[in-house]
Amino acid sequence: MLTFRGKSAFGGIAVGRICVYQKGQQQVKRRRAADTDAEVQRFHHARELAIEQLGELYETSLKKVSEAEAAIFEVHQMMLQDGDYMESVENIIRCQEVNAEYAVAVTADNFSRMFSVMEDPYMRERAADVKDVSERLLNVLTGASGAGPTVAEPMIIVARDLAPSETVQLDKEKVLAFVTLQGSVNSHTAILAKTMGIPALVNTSLEGQGETGANERNLLEQLDGKRGIVDGFQGLFYVEPEEELLLEMQSRKAAEEKKKDLLQSLKGKSNVTLDGKEIQLYANVGNIKDLALVIQNDAGGIGLFRSEFLYLEKDDYPSEEEQFQIYKTVAETMAGKKVIIRTLDIGADKQAEYFGIPHEENPAMGYRAIRICLDRPQVFMTQLRAIFRASAYGNLAIMYPMIISLEEIRRIKELVAQVKDQLESQGIAYRDMEQGIMIETPAAVMISDRLAEEVDFFSIGTNDLTQYTLAIDRQNPKLDEFYDAHHPAVLKMIQMVVDNAHRAGIWAGICGELGADTSLTETFLKMDVDELSVSPSAVLPVRKAIRESNVGKKQQSH
Ligand code: PEP
Ligand code: MG
Repeated sequence: MLTFRGKSAFGGIAVGRICVYQKGQQQVKRRRAADTDAEVQRFHHARELAIEQLGELYETSLKKVSEAEAAIFEVHQMMLQDGDYMESVENIIRCQEVNAEYAVAVTADNFSRMFSVMEDPYMRERAADVKDVSERLLNVLTGASGAGPTVAEPMIIVARDLAPSETVQLDKEKVLAFVTLQGSVNSHTAILAKTMGIPALVNTSLEGQGETGANERNLLEQLDGKRGIVDGFQGLFYVEPEEELLLEMQSRKAAEEKKKDLLQSLKGKSNVTLDGKEIQLYANVGNIKDLALVIQNDAGGIGLFRSEFLYLEKDDYPSEEEQFQIYKTVAETMAGKKVIIRTLDIGADKQAEYFGIPHEENPAMGYRAIRICLDRPQVFMTQLRAIFRASAYGNLAIMYPMIISLEEIRRIKELVAQVKDQLESQGIAYRDMEQGIMIETPAAVMISDRLAEEVDFFSIGTNDLTQYTLAIDRQNPKLDEFYDAHHPAVLKMIQMVVDNAHRAGIWAGICGELGADTSLTETFLKMDVDELSVSPSAVLPVRKAIRESNVGKKQQSH
């Protein structure tokens, strides 16, 4: 039996077979190739196809982004025409008599290592590009789409890492749990595990061995097809468990199911404390597939629809019509309950290739969210049109991420006015929606008194607010111990935002992960927070905490 220890992204116990997902060069197996000429030809043929794909990507992205941004695809094309790169692949095929895939993977490893130690920062950045372009080449060679893991029966997915764009494409019905060797508990991949309600571990390594490092590939290969247990409560992952442990975990799993059943009795009950204070309890979703979970868990509405996942699932910008159909379905399905659509929050760890966002030194503090939307108004207005059109079909509200200034609000209002004018002149129906902002930067907290005069509500994004307040990259697993979600600075900021909202007569909620922390439920109630929006799986546990709370005399009055 092998025992791994990781950080829990979501509790729960899963027992089943392991499917190892290895993307890009890690998928590649070394095969002996008798006909090396044919392999060299396969390589060049794939190279030409990849160059063609990159040319098309360059052309389509020119319509959406600046020439400088689209130029990344030209850089990739040049890499595939680079003499040293081609020579290395050909040489490996011929000397080692191996398949083209293996030769490309080894060349990618060697070249990216070489680039990553160069002094010139520009050259260091090319390390990621060479990996990227080689991955494209491998996808052409293997006929893969690069769309993330797919399995035929429910299994435990084990991967070196999973990007949010891959995680969102997992079929919840087919995934018992997932375990990644890398990743942080505050990443969007971890948040997605919570939304999907599946046990998940991140930053996992073989017990006693710390970082798995160079042996990762071998280690992962060994696990494929074996029987595993994920204990999301203890952060443990067992491979080929002993019979006794298997029986113990199966009975713990049954006990957990029972607890979940007990929570079901809270369905239909109000979110009221013992002394009569009521709070709204909504759910966070990233996908139309999550709607069933919202309803099953009896959330009062959707407090955060992470619309960027519509973009992450696709190879090109979703059209207005496509988005409209999705927002309309959400509005209709929620049948009059409030649905707050957050506009596109792409960037940082949520990247879609077709946006052509060049590599950044500090992506979390970089070109992301509302900054991209205001910089590329055509992308933003397409989304706004889709949301406004869908507003006629239910109770939609809209909120904007990563706000830092009044100027941004002013600019957003101008674009919203243009969208409404367009719809009116086209005779397309829409409703006036509540429009709010996310408070997830210290700047927004500090000017929340002014911002409150401009918008209809605040939703506090504690995930980003914590990272920006504590100067802790939420993606960096080494900092998980320092990421103090209960830091007094963050709690003080929440109180400040709520007070400023109430002074201006608007409501304030929390949609970051902290909202689901039941050890703080009573504190939030005492702070007079109006709404908590949590992962669907956390709705009933938070309701239980609310109903067991006693707020006493209100600390603040407004
Ligand atoms: C947050 O930052 O708290 C938030 C809810 O947004 P996201 O996690 O998607 O960045
Ligand atoms: Mg955020």
